[in-house]
Amino acid sequence: MTTQPIAFIGAGPGDPELITLKGRRLLDEADLIIYAGSLVNKDLLTGLTSEIHDSASLNLDQIIELIRDGFAAGKKIVRLHTGDPAIYGAIREQMQRLQKHHIPYTVVPGVSSATAAAAALQVELTVPEITQTVILTRQAGRTPVPEKESLKKLAAIQASMCIFLSVSMIESVVGELMAGGYPADTPIAVVEKASWPEQRIIRGDLSDIASKVQEGGIKKTAMILVGQALNEEPDTVSKLYDKRFSHEYR
Ligand code: SAH
Repeated sequence: MTTQPIAFIGAGPGDPELITLKGRRLLDEADLIIYAGSLVNKDLLTGLTSEIHDSASLNLDQIIELIRDGFAAGKKIVRLHTGDPAIYGAIREQMQRLQKHHIPYTVVPGVSSATAAAAALQVELTVPEITQTVILTRQAGRTPVPEKESLKKLAAIQASMCIFLSVSMIESVVGELMAGGYPADTPIAVVEKASWPEQRIIRGDLSDIASKVQEGGIKKTAMILVGQALNEEPDTVSKLYDKRFSHEYR
């Protein structure tokens, strides 16, 4: 019997077309799929005849047990995570357990909600002469964030920031960003359910975004993007396409 490594797959942000070809193929071929129920679009599973489990109701031990038993039985197994599994995917604890059991695995990347939100806003996060850095982070919640990387400290860098898991705390997010040095007129946007049919976009600046988000009733599954790169003023155009810039670098 040939056994295949467990595949941790990034499902993408929601739109079923935003999964990689490799991820799609492995899903189609799988005998057993364990998916992260709350955020993975179930349309990805339509028409599959495999055994399918929603991990929302399972703890880590139960997930590992399912994988172990399936692997021992020679099943092709997919563990489907939202967005890209490397970002707030909680895959590390699963991979460590699989290592202990000598079960091989691979990771297939996915489109993160951070880049899906940037696509929805039609922005480039790395604009020459404005910022060349993107920070992926979150506000501290039930999971603590090390003090040296608090939003206030990161704000001092004035990069483009993609803030996950924090929209329910939008007021304190804004407070920390301003305390850290972003001016009140810094552009900020919230994208709820990026790439889903019900996607919603709220744009503003640091002075008004919290009240707009509260009015809109956005409480979860939303990405906060902030920084001058979101500024739509035409004079912030990339120097790369400036006539005087050598073509070699294009
Ligand atoms: N691995 C995922 C992130 C999982 S953490 C990824 O790469 O996207 C869950 C958080 O991701 C949510 O709280 C929200 O901030 C963000 N998120 C996930 N899907 C989203 C979507 N479709 N639109 C906006 N934000 C989303």
